[in-house]
Amino acid sequence: MTTFVSRASWGARAPGNVSGNITPQNGGVTVHYVGSGNVARPDHSQCAAQVRGIQNGHMDGNGWADIAYTYLVCVHDYVFHGRGPNVRTASNGTNSGNQNWYGVCALIGAADTVPAGLIAGIKSAISNLRDVGNAANGINGHRNHLATACPGDRLYALVQDGSLNPGGGGGTPGAPAWPGVVFRYPPVTRHSSVGTWQQRMVDRGWSLTVDSEYGPASKEVCLAFQREKGLAADGEVGPDTWAAAWTAPITRVEALTRQTLAAR
Ligand SMILES: [Zn+2]
Ligand SMILES: [Zn+2]
Repeated sequence: MTTFVSRASWGARAPGNVSGNITPQNGGVTVHYVGSGNVARPDHSQCAAQVRGIQNGHMDGNGWADIAYTYLVCVHDYVFHGRGPNVRTASNGTNSGNQNWYGVCALIGAADTVPAGLIAGIKSAISNLRDVGNAANGINGHRNHLATACPGDRLYALVQDGSLNPGGGGGTPGAPAWPGVVFRYPPVTRHSSVGTWQQRMVDRGWSLTVDSEYGPASKEVCLAFQREKGLAADGEVGPDTWAAAWTAPITRVEALTRQTLAAR
């Protein structure tokens, strides 16, 4: 049974001015670890001090307004309140990542295994963010936003096989794992997962040929979709746009947009 730890309980410092848009209905939750040079604390009495140290590093070392993460989860099935729901994170490495995805950090290092208590805590954190933080069903890893080892191979394997999904079962609900390839044009991006995305957009009602080639027609649909969903309109299918194709609700405005495109 997961225990949520309030900021007062772990001795958090008061945050500075945290601002910026937060639209997790377009993404979901990004999983992190604390990485090399760190290890899981064997005794839970040591975990709050570890979280305080991370906050000090982010505020004093990086000059950030607060600890970067939404939640931090220890191997003993405790969830420490970081920035919390409905607050933009600073953990995901890109503007769109910080706007569309929460950040949940596992308090383990590169050499640590992933015990059951940690998995349970992460699932509780994700469930909470869906319940009260308007998070879409996407679950990905820090490495889906930019080149990094985070959240480590062991934890990332669980991101990919659906083990961290609080709904249970295999696979991230709603969205297949991002293929790790950004679709862009020009030149044409050819990849089997382009066809997966094209088929999904056709299923949503967009007019598009499913040929696994990301060319001008795909880019035009992508741009219209991004604008309507409030995503960064760059015409590229990266992790946010990929996830939103499955998790974002199909709106009336979107339907009108695609009719306009089809009429041209
Ligand atoms: Zn990370
Ligand atoms: Zn602990």
